[in-house]
Amino acid sequence: MAKDTSPACKQCRREGEKLFLKGERCLGDRCAMERRSYPPGEHGRRRVKQTEYLMQLREKQKARRIYGILEKQFRNYYEKANRQGGITGENLLRLLETRLDNVVYRLGFAVSRRQARQLVRHGHFTVNGRRVNIPSYQVRPDDVIAVREGSTAQDSIREATELTSLVSPWLQADHDNLSGTILKYPERDEIDAPVQEQLIVELYSK
Ligand code: SF4
Repeated sequence: MAKDTSPACKQCRREGEKLFLKGERCLGDRCAMERRSYPPGEHGRRRVKQTEYLMQLREKQKARRIYGILEKQFRNYYEKANRQGGITGENLLRLLETRLDNVVYRLGFAVSRRQARQLVRHGHFTVNGRRVNIPSYQVRPDDVIAVREGSTAQDSIREATELTSLVSPWLQADHDNLSGTILKYPERDEIDAPVQEQLIVELYSK
C-alpha cells in the first residue's frame, strides 16, 4: 500500500504548524517547529501572497498530512463524503476519523498515527475478534478493537497508553485489557483536528 514517505517534520514546516506526526518528540524542544518554523527549502523564508486557492490547497494538504493519506485516496474520501447525505466536510472528517489506524491512535495504543498504521499493518490488532491488517478499514459503532493475543508489540502499546491522558469521547478505551469500543460515530466537535474542512470542500467542488 502506498504511503507518504516525506520527512514528517518537513510536512509540519510546510504547513506552518505542528501536526504531531512523531509522537513524544512533538511535545519537547526537539520539535523542528520550535527551532525552524518557516517552510523548508531554499525559498522557505520568502513571503508568499495568500490567495483563496492557496488557502484551500494548504488546508487540504494539512488534512492529508495529519491523517497520512495520499492525494488519490484523499480525493476518493471526498467523493464518498459528497455522496453521503448531510454536510460534506463533516462527512469527510468522519470517514478519516473512523479509519482503523486513526482509531488505534485515538484509543491511545500508539503515540502517532504513523506508529498506529504500522502496528495495524503488521497484524497486531483485531476487530470483533478477527485480525485486521488494513489501516484504512472503516470501523463502526459497537466494534471492539483489541490487541491480538500473543502480539509481540504489547510492551510498546502499553508504553503508548501510559502517555495517553485523554481518549476521544466517541470511544471507550480499556487500557488494562488493551481493548477499546466504538461508542458511536463522532460529531464534528468531537473531532480534534485543526482543519477547516469547508475550505477543502470549496477546493474540490471547483
Ligand atoms: Fe511536527 Fe512533531 Fe516534527 Fe514537531 S516533531 S515538526 S510536531 S512531526
